[in-house]
Amino acid sequence: MIKVVKFGGSSLASAEQFAKVGKIIHSDKERRYVVPSAPGKRNAKDTKVTDMLYACYEMVEREEDFRVQLMKIKERYDSIMNGLHLKLSLEEEFRKISDNFKNKMGEDYAASRGEYLNGIVMANYLGYEFVDAAEVIFFHEDGSFDAEQTNTVLKARLEQIERAVVPGFYGSMPDGSIKTFSRGGSDITGSIVAKAVHATCYENWTDVSGFLIADPSIIDNPKPIKTITYRELRELSYMGASVLHEDSVFPVRKAGIPINIRNTNAPEDEGTWIVESTCHQPEFTITGIAGKKGFVSVSIDKDMMNAEVGFGRKVLSAFEDNGISFEHIPSGIDTMTVFVHQPEFEGREQSVISSIHRYAKPDSIELEGDLALIAVVGRGMRSTRGTAGRIFSALAHASVNVKMIDQGSSELNIIIGVSNADFENAIKAIYDIFVTTRL
Ligand code: ASP
Repeated sequence: MIKVVKFGGSSLASAEQFAKVGKIIHSDKERRYVVPSAPGKRNAKDTKVTDMLYACYEMVEREEDFRVQLMKIKERYDSIMNGLHLKLSLEEEFRKISDNFKNKMGEDYAASRGEYLNGIVMANYLGYEFVDAAEVIFFHEDGSFDAEQTNTVLKARLEQIERAVVPGFYGSMPDGSIKTFSRGGSDITGSIVAKAVHATCYENWTDVSGFLIADPSIIDNPKPIKTITYRELRELSYMGASVLHEDSVFPVRKAGIPINIRNTNAPEDEGTWIVESTCHQPEFTITGIAGKKGFVSVSIDKDMMNAEVGFGRKVLSAFEDNGISFEHIPSGIDTMTVFVHQPEFEGREQSVISSIHRYAKPDSIELEGDLALIAVVGRGMRSTRGTAGRIFSALAHASVNVKMIDQGSSELNIIIGVSNADFENAIKAIYDIFVTTRL
């Protein structure tokens, strides 16, 4: 049995946090492969090492003296190493980094050093072998991730090593230069490593005890989600719930490996399990609620629209021409409404309106802005009668006017459109009816 464990920046921000991580790893022999992020924030006012590196490299590009900034980064590592009483020096590494900065090795190289150095420190602390991600994680010429080559090389390499640390966030291009994933990308590295070693589980350690049913800034002490499927997670993350990098589910999902989100500061909590499928009914009918503000509805009216072949295509062409993607399209007999992101749409609204008139010749077009979309997600909804009824009576009781309803054909989610001003109240009403009163 092999577990791959990834630790986020806040879990590795200081010597104290490293010590907690060491305890977690040593408490389970199966935790054989470790993927660290760069040191994160020690408190709300602190700066992540990755951000310090980006800032330092900007100075390099502006031809400014970057030595003081680089020394501040070195101090972060020195304080961790001193706190852990390690007999390790990063002098030589920092000299190399400084030379490479002078030679303008690039922003990705700069950012990746946060994980690279933390990997060296972590390996030394644990007594594990250090494997530079540049030697085992690969990108194609066009910058996309090369899953095949990575899996072959990584698998062969880790088969030889009983216990290893592979830094997150970066890999190498065909020409050997360093490339990073997008921000938060150490989650992806963890997933890739889990797949390569056929792990029984990918533990992703962070600073919260898993996913919560709703946003804690809206609901006081929301209940945690014990188990969530990959598809439910996708629906909720799309609607703004975030703990894990979106792309990190793909490698493990294809290999049938579950992800367990855990809390470094509360290791006794079981956290959230993300699985492909489960026969366990969720504790509540709904698994989670998430939502986003800032949508516009574009309502298009035309008599006899229902009989006109190609009407929908013509309307959508107007959005495509303006480079705007749509979210939802609820429709009636003579009406069709297109929901779009307000910030993306605002600058181009008049151009979209004239394109719709040109292509689809509608009777009228009406815009309504400042709308919010809320997704109520749950595999349990499929087998429960009256879910929609409960949602809408709760919203009516809370005096929330529902502007749009869209139930996905998978019966996994119901999307509700309300005005931005009603957003928080709507989420509270839905949470209360399903979780607090558990109807
Ligand atoms: N250190 C990188 C970031 O801050 C990657 C990560 O932590 O996953 O985005």
